[in-house]
Amino acid sequence: MKETISPRSGTAFLLPRGAQLKIIDPMGEQVCDLLCFSQQDKREALSSGRTIDYNNKIFFSEGDKFYSNRSEVMFEILGDTVGRHDFLLTPCSSDTFRIIYGHDHPHRGCFGNLEAALKEYGITGDDIPTTFNVFMNVTVNGETGEIKVEPPKSKAGDYIIIRAEMDLIVGLTACSAEQSNNYSFKPIEYQILNP
Ligand SMILES: [Zn+2]
Repeated sequence: MKETISPRSGTAFLLPRGAQLKIIDPMGEQVCDLLCFSQQDKREALSSGRTIDYNNKIFFSEGDKFYSNRSEVMFEILGDTVGRHDFLLTPCSSDTFRIIYGHDHPHRGCFGNLEAALKEYGITGDDIPTTFNVFMNVTVNGETGEIKVEPPKSKAGDYIIIRAEMDLIVGLTACSAEQSNNYSFKPIEYQILNP
């Protein structure tokens, strides 16, 4: 069954080992922050640093494996119709909106949405690492290292499919940051396949 994450919100759920998760951008140009923890020990979490290290690159797509802070494979991308995602930037937060956008009453962002959704699994804000930002398009200047947040390359109906390689607690959002989503907030859909 397909589930919908409303604009600027988030959710969390269990994904057993071997199950596949399809994340769909139903309208196009919408980012979805993904993060996961081991069901066995929630101190084991997705690690951007280790994933970059062991894959020798910063952009990930089909066939790439994603590692935990304990260097275990948490999931692999099985399918990807977009081919550009980000694993450098932290989830957007009220601080992001205050510091970068200058908002006086900032939205809680993906960080606050993940914190709220993961609370029932005993996970707090301090436990949240860098998220894998599905469909987020961040370009990097190879000389200076300067980064730029560009509109996502995803079009309506684009998706990625990941397969859990351990029993996971997963957090997912429909991202709340203006610039990341080409200045419009849209839903995200997801579907758990062969659980
Ligand atoms: Zn966000």
